[in-house]
Amino acid sequence: MSEEVSEPIEVLRLPVELEYQYTAGKSASRFLRGLQQGKLLGQRCPVDGRVYFPTRGCCPQHGVPMAEEGSIELPDVGTLVTYSIVRVPSANIPLELPYVTIQVLLDGADTVMMHVLGECELEDVHMGMRLEAKWKPEEEWETSVGNILYFVPLDEPDAPYESYKEHI
Ligand SMILES: [Zn+2]
Repeated sequence: MSEEVSEPIEVLRLPVELEYQYTAGKSASRFLRGLQQGKLLGQRCPVDGRVYFPTRGCCPQHGVPMAEEGSIELPDVGTLVTYSIVRVPSANIPLELPYVTIQVLLDGADTVMMHVLGECELEDVHMGMRLEAKWKPEEEWETSVGNILYFVPLDEPDAPYESYKEHI
């Protein structure tokens, strides 16, 4: 005998918590230690020469190891490939709304990194902008991408669309 059903349940809230410890591993450790010294380390694939940033240990396309000798230091300047203006708060992101998340193609890299844009009016944000990293004071550097506070516009002409279109 079934009980009489009233309204259907549409939302069920359960307290869920997971604790885990992440070990960076050899390649990511090298990348994070580089950040502590203000270095942005990428790695070159020995098959096609593409530069992956951050370092990955092995090429995701060819499955071959990328030797430590293949590490290269990239400049902290690049091109804004794409962006999103965020107007919705998130519990774990303490940035003031609205803010701009960006995909930056560092000069010399073949993969993009995600970060945020600062010191730029929303109406001025556009693809192809040339950007430079704004770092924390050196005495505050840790093994973290957070050493870069945000990227700021460079006073340079935009990069040509052809130079970054494959990364959109
Ligand atoms: Zn490769």
